[in-house]
Order: sequence, then C-alpha cells, then structure tokens
Amino acid sequence: MNVNQSVPPVPSFGQPQPVYPGYHQSSYGGQSGSTAPTIPYGAYNGPVPGYQQTPPQGMSRAPPSSGAPPASTAQAPCGQAAYGQFGQGDVQNGPSSTVQMQRLPGSQPFGSPLAPVGNQPAVLQPYGPPPTSAQVTAQLSGMQISGAVAPAPPSSGLGYGPPTSLASASGSFPNSGLYGSYPQGQAPPLSQAQGHPGIQTPQRSAPSQASGFTPPASGGPRLPSITGPLLPGQSFGGPSVSQPNHVSSPPPQALPPGTQMTGPLGPLPPMHSPQQPGYQPQQNGSFGPTRGPQPNYGSPYPAAPTFGSQSGPQPLPPKRLDPDAIPSPIQVIEDDRNNRGTEPFVTGVRGQVPPLVTTNFLVKDQGNASPRYIRCTSYNIPCTSDMAKQAQVPLAAVIKPLARLPPEEASPYVVDHGESGPLRCNRCKAYMCPFMQFIEGGRRFQCCFCSCINDVPPQYFQHLDHTGKRVDAYDRPELSLGSYEFLATVDYCKNSKFPSPPAFIFMIDVSYNAIRTGLVRLLCEELKSLLDFLPSLLDQIPEMFADTRETETVFVPVIQAGMEALKAAECAGKLFLFHTSLPIAEAPGKLKNRDDRKLINTDKEKTLFQPQTGAYQTLAKECVAQGCCVDLFLFPNQYVDVATLSVVPQLTGGSVYKYACFQVENDQERFLSDLRRDVQKVVGFDAVMRVRTSTGIRAVDFFGAFYMSNTTDVELAGLDGDKTVTVEFKHDDRLNEESGALLQCALLYTSCAGQRRLRIHNLALNCCTQLADLYRNCETDTLINYMAKFAYRGVLNSPVKAVRDTLITQCAQILACYRKNCASPSSAGQLILPECMKLLPVYLNCVLKSDVLQPGAEITTDDRAYVRQLVTSMDVAETNVFFYPRLLPLTKSPIESTTEPPAIRASEERLSNGDMYLLENGLNLFLWVGASVQQGVVQSLFSVSSFSQITSGLSVLPVLDNPLSKKVRGLIDSLRAQRSRYMKLIVVKQEDKLEMLFKHFLVEDKSLSGGASYVDFLCHMHKEIRQLLS
Ligand SMILES: [Zn+2]
Repeated sequence: MNVNQSVPPVPSFGQPQPVYPGYHQSSYGGQSGSTAPTIPYGAYNGPVPGYQQTPPQGMSRAPPSSGAPPASTAQAPCGQAAYGQFGQGDVQNGPSSTVQMQRLPGSQPFGSPLAPVGNQPAVLQPYGPPPTSAQVTAQLSGMQISGAVAPAPPSSGLGYGPPTSLASASGSFPNSGLYGSYPQGQAPPLSQAQGHPGIQTPQRSAPSQASGFTPPASGGPRLPSITGPLLPGQSFGGPSVSQPNHVSSPPPQALPPGTQMTGPLGPLPPMHSPQQPGYQPQQNGSFGPTRGPQPNYGSPYPAAPTFGSQSGPQPLPPKRLDPDAIPSPIQVIEDDRNNRGTEPFVTGVRGQVPPLVTTNFLVKDQGNASPRYIRCTSYNIPCTSDMAKQAQVPLAAVIKPLARLPPEEASPYVVDHGESGPLRCNRCKAYMCPFMQFIEGGRRFQCCFCSCINDVPPQYFQHLDHTGKRVDAYDRPELSLGSYEFLATVDYCKNSKFPSPPAFIFMIDVSYNAIRTGLVRLLCEELKSLLDFLPSLLDQIPEMFADTRETETVFVPVIQAGMEALKAAECAGKLFLFHTSLPIAEAPGKLKNRDDRKLINTDKEKTLFQPQTGAYQTLAKECVAQGCCVDLFLFPNQYVDVATLSVVPQLTGGSVYKYACFQVENDQERFLSDLRRDVQKVVGFDAVMRVRTSTGIRAVDFFGAFYMSNTTDVELAGLDGDKTVTVEFKHDDRLNEESGALLQCALLYTSCAGQRRLRIHNLALNCCTQLADLYRNCETDTLINYMAKFAYRGVLNSPVKAVRDTLITQCAQILACYRKNCASPSSAGQLILPECMKLLPVYLNCVLKSDVLQPGAEITTDDRAYVRQLVTSMDVAETNVFFYPRLLPLTKSPIESTTEPPAIRASEERLSNGDMYLLENGLNLFLWVGASVQQGVVQSLFSVSSFSQITSGLSVLPVLDNPLSKKVRGLIDSLRAQRSRYMKLIVVKQEDKLEMLFKHFLVEDKSLSGGASYVDFLCHMHKEIRQLLS
C-alpha cells in the first residue's frame, strides 16, 4: 500500500530528483505543503562547500578526509561569536562601564578614600600588558573559540574573557532576614558570613581575595580584596573593570573569562593581611582600608554584625550593589540579537551553540536538527562521567518533535521507502541518518550509534565517492539532513492496520455554573463556526439545559465515555473537555475539597500537587492505549483540584486551560482564541517517541506531558507543535572527542490526516576532556528550562524547601566547578561566572521565587498546580519569558517606529512614572501606567482626560484613531501572536491596588512572598560558591 500515491507532486527544491523520486515536501499536520519549498535546500543538488565540514562520524571510523572539524575550532570565526561578542549594546541596561564606578547615593560615606574612578586603570594593571591583537580578536570572536583553539589550561582563559567581567559584589543584605528562607544548613560558616547577624568575626580575619585583580602569576602578591566584610549594603565597587554586560568594546586588559564579581565572599586569606601596601590604590570601596573593615557599622543595620576592630573610618550607611553592574538579561539578549540575528544558523557543523531563543534567526538544515526541534544544555559534553559529576551541569535536551516552523523554513521532507519501510540498524534499530558510515564500496554500513555492521539492501545500494560518501547523499534527506520523515509501513501500525483519521470529541459541562455564566451558549455558538457540519444539537444544548439546577458534576465518567467512543470507532483522537467545578457527584473519580494552604512550607505541601486518587491515572493509561488525548478547559469559581483533574491531560499529551471566575464579557476573547487555536493545532496522535544515543551516554530521565510504561518509550496519546519532551542523559561509558556524541529522536505518530509517519531528528554534539569546553558551550536558557522542570517535578515528592535548596546547591556547584577549574587560580575572592552562564543566577532566582516554589499569598493551590503542569512541557523560549518577563516601555521610542521597543530589566526602579509599560510572560499581560503620564497620552490611549479616570483593571483598550492608540494596540496584538496562549490584558495604574499583582512580575526585585532580589541572590550564590571552594 503506497500512501504516497495520494500525495501531491514533489515540490521543487531545486532540480528534479532523478535518483530518488520517493520523497516530497511534508504536508504534515495540515501545514500547507506548498509553502515550504520556496526555500530550496541548497545542499540537495550537490554538496555545498560548507557542507564538507559536516562530521557524520561513526564511532569507530577515522575522520573523513573532508575534514570534520573537531570541536568548535573550525567554525569559531563566524559561527561561534555569539556569546563572547558584545556589540555596542543598548544602554537600556545601564550606563557604560565607566558608570560602574559611580557611587550610589548611599555610598557617599566611603567618599574620598574610596577608589576614585581614576584608580581603575591601576586596578587593571596587574593583568599585565595589553593583549596582543590576537587576543583582542579572540575576545571579539568569543570565548568559545579560545577553548577550541587551545585546550585551555584553566588560566588560559584569561586572554579571552569578554569584557563582561566585573563588578565586585559586596553583599547587600539590608535585612539579613532575607535569606531566612534558605535552609539552616546553608548558612555560611561564621567566618564567611559577613553581614549576617550574630557573626562577630572581626574583619581582619576575613579579607577576601580579589583575585581578579591580582597579577595572573600565581606567585604574585595578593590583593587584600575586601578588607571589609561583606557587608550588608556594601556598595559594589570594585575595581572591576568593566560592566558585565556592557561590552561595547573589549577592554585592553585581558580578563578572565566569565563575569567576575569581586565579592566579599572569597575564601579568606590568612588573617593578618588586611592591607597590602602597594595595592591599596587599586581598591575601591570594597578594598583597602577605606572600604575595609567597617567598624561599628552595626548600628545602621540592626541585623548586621559589628566588626569592631577594623580600621575602617566610619560607619557604613546602607549601600547597595549596583544593579547596573551585574549581568543583565536584557543586555545578553540584545547582544545575541545583534551578533547572531543576521546570519542563518547553518547546522552542518557538530556541536554549534545556536543563537538564543530570543533572537530571530533562520535555520538551514545541513545535517543536524534545527534548534527549533532540539536544544541542549550543552553542545560539548564531558568525555567522562567523572567530569560530568564534577561540573554538575545537567546534560539534557529539550525536544519539540513537531515544532512549528516559520514560513521561510521548509517542513521536513517525507521519505517513502515503499513496502520495505525505513532502513534501520539491525541491532539498535536506529534509523538511517547522515552519521551512518557506508563501507565496503557501499555494500554495508556501520551504525553510528552502536557500531554494528549492517548489509545495505540491494534496492538501497549506491556507490561511494572518493571520500567514502554515497554519491546520492545529497539526494536523500535521510543521508544529508538533520530532520526528515519516513512514511511508516503497516508494521508500525496498531494491530497491523493503517489508522483511521483521528476524531475530535467535544464534551461540555452543562451544569448550573456553566449555564449561568453563559459559557455553554458561547461555546456552542463557537463550535458551530468551527465545525462546518454543525449538528443542530449545538443549537439545542443551551436551551435544553437553560433551567438546570444541577451543581454536582462528574469528570472521570465523561472522559471514559469519550474514550469508549473512540475505541468503538477504532481511531485515535482528542477529547475537548469543558468543565467548571470540583466533581463531587457520586461517581468514579469523585473528589473532595482538600485545599489547605496551611500545608505550605510544611512537609505535606507536596500533597497539594499530587492527585488525590489513583482513578485518574488509571483512566489516563486507558486513554493512552487508545490514542485518546484529552484537552481540558476549566472555568472554576473556586477550588477544583487542578492537581487531580490535570492528570489525564498531562499523561495523554493534552493541554489544560484555566479561566478563573469566567465571565463572558471579560473572558470570551481569551477563551475563544485559545479554543480556536487548540482545535487547529497540528497534532500527532497515538505516538511513541524514542531517543537513541551513541555509545557512552544514554537517556535516563524524561519530563513532559506523556506516559511511560517502560524506561525508554515515551508514549503520547497526542503531541502538538507546542509541546516539548525533555530528556536527560547520563554517561554509561567514556566518550571520545573525535567521534563526539549523537542523538536520534524518532517519533512514530499518526498525522491529523490519518497517515502513519516517523519523524526523525538527529543531532551531533562535541565531547571534551577540558571542563572549560563544557562551560563555553552551554546554553543557560535550556539549563533553566531543565532545572525548572526538574524542580517542578520534585515538589511532587519532596518538601518545596528541599527542592529549592537542591537547585541552589546545584547552581553553586556548577559555578564553583567553573571557578575552580576554568578561571584564574588566583581569583578566589571574586564571583566569576562563565560567560555562557552569567545569567544563571538571575534566572535561577526567578525559578526559585516562582509561584510553584515560593507562592505569594494571592496564589491559589490550583494556580500552582496549573503552572506546574504548564511548565512541564514548555519549550525554552516559553520558560525564558515565563520566568523572566519582558517589560517594554511604550512612549520612549518614536511613535512611528513599528518595531518592538527594546525591553528593559524587570525591576521597579526601571519604571518611570511618566511612562507606560507592557509586561508579558507568555501567560499574563499588563499595561502599567505611571501616575505622571502626560495627559495627552492618557487621552490618546484611554479616551479619558486624566490619569485618575483610567479604569483600573481594564482589559480592553478603546479603539481610537490616533497613532499612539494604534501603536499600542498593534504591539499588544503582536505580543499575543508570539505566544501559544492568549494573554488577557490587565491595565494597572501606579499606586493602585492592582499594582501588587503587577509587581509580582518584576522579578529582579525582592518579592512579597520572600523571594530574594537579584542582587541579594547573587550575593547569596557567591557565598555558597565560596563555601564550596573553601
Ligand atoms: Zn545500531
């Protein structure tokens, strides 16, 4: 049976394919097959020059003569510049590096003795002579290069440090109670805990090393970096050289790679070295006598220790770490856009770190899967498990097998091998891919995953060219592309029968609440327009139940009925379930209200996230067996136990939507938009996903919305284009640098049209024997995605506090390992962050203070369960904006500008009361209006004459015919279009009650629920790291 016969003719991707007529542009999932081929796959008609570099290396073969570049060397000059290169950044983030020396108001007392700006050059001197031009070049092209160029000894990184380094982090613990929420066990030892209450250690015992400023030579004298204890409120100061993120131009000095912060928290040098003559001039407020021991400053800080004996001149007034001097997410995003947003990302080279998810870029598939399908925490993984354990960097891939692509990129080609089906390795069952090695003149191939030698079937035989490559390699997607599809044979179908097209079933709650709110009428109206063949039943339903007084609902039997219907029809499909209340009626799956906020912060808190009965899991398993995916739309007025109700959607690959206190007037647009989008989603049904790896690593853990009945197969009743499956890998053997590590994700599924297909994604990663290479090729956004999922699953079984502690510890270990192995050995007193991970602390803090891990008073138990469930299948772009929202000023940019205004950091102090801002995180959207916004602006946007007349909580802006109104509404539409769920707008006025809600999303600030500010957390992290190093 050749399903392919019904497919439209092969779209042109260049020349006709004489050799291989069997594949065509995918028309998968309702995507129009005609859109894609306009972007020809260049390599198809013959190798393009760059493609020679593709390293499809089998484990045991020699590198091809075409010269696969080991590691990142080859592409360094062009491809890898991103992280290390700092273009002239937008200043949004703060002033340029000179500003770093400015004292904040509070720091006045440090005054004259403190390091004047003029000292800065001196500070840098110890680094030695200005770098050679080669070094500068290297700085420009990014640190990743340095690792590849020379397996860098730890200290060699010095020459390549992007100018991000910086900033001494003197602690700002205005209130040492801040970290009260951290576990006792983490309290720093006395000697290190400056600024903590009860610590009487005299300063002189703890001059930390500002090693970043000591001469690189290990024998050099050490700076008494911080003679002062890290004081709460100490100002930042540092001799540091440049702003972390403002790297408009590399400083002449060679800095250690990574962001450095001279911190108060260094390992403490011998006691009596508070002052080292000769270095004092280099010290700013954090160093030397001026800044040093701060005698008696206890008084201004009730909680601060008194450091009596030090020679410091005066009591310290409260100081702050300068927020402009610590790594800024905005700047990093901006830099990546500038550096990597202009060129397509070509996947021909192994182990390349893709541009950030916040950068717009096109992808050209030349042998590895696009980052839209797979993103990794690191693209260079340690060769041994010992190294991996030392670094503690999780090795994980966030995989979105059915990701939607921009119109400019081609959907995967579909390959039809007819009745013989796709060619696979006999032993490990991996699918044919560009990394397989053909040998013996093309008669056999060696599997790149397990090394097994396989015969090439006669019909697949082809000659090899002089490099050992099949001459038809570029005519076959499976030999030249990272991603493609195979048509599946009947052997891949349930009961050895080709599937019927999947069905959609809508199941509507018609209880009192659903009728009363108008939901049922609205929904039935909408379904009529969604479904061309409208059953007249939809007209009748609202009338039939108009007078219902039924308030008790059931849930499990409803799903059961839908699933039975699919079973009877012998097809897979999706149930759309619309539900309003806790199912308390007498029936299977009956629930009781067990919401209890008193459990928060107790060992029983985890029960709030667990289902209250096993009936839902049992039902979910049956659904998965039938290929029945369940999407749940909730309209609760009170607790409905989302933790339990979401079990079935979660295990069947479905989605949950929640509209609390639903009112047709206010929420209809959001609900209908979500529903329309959900109904039209591309979905793969009755799917199984398997991730194969080359020898040395294997997939050990999985996160996402799916079910697993064994340890390797991810079963998905449904999988849509927004959902990811995250896979963690562990070593089971030694890897080697030459062959790298390979991943192959194979998804077997039934398309919306009922075609059984296999989608294959391949990705080759580098392997390293130097930890520095690992740290140069990490992707923090993906790391955070993984860590959030890990933590959000952890709360099911462990106390939330323990989960938070685990995250903090892991982050500290990651950074401490870098510090120990990859940074300058003499820089013990500084916080040094790897360039690729300099945002790890700020992002991790956002995860730690998120609603699941540290709920505010206004967050309900259902909200937490809902968010927990959502994050589980989010992709990297979604977690990025979810944890660190985008804040866009509205009146700063020219009115005629059609591009999005540049974002600013999510902190209240960035807000001007004369401006308005949009804030979005993928789920929420706020318009914050400053109290001093010009009257004309208020009029133009809200059609009222003054700020006081603006309706707080407004969710729709009036449609007015003026440029500002059009611009803002257009921007809102554009933000909504970028997200997978409709974001309802909430207008918040400065100083209004609702502002509390808005401030919850200003994630760099201390949160009401006790979450640390970015600055405080960074100091805390520094302390943790120092403890690990000491
Ligand atoms: Zn194999």
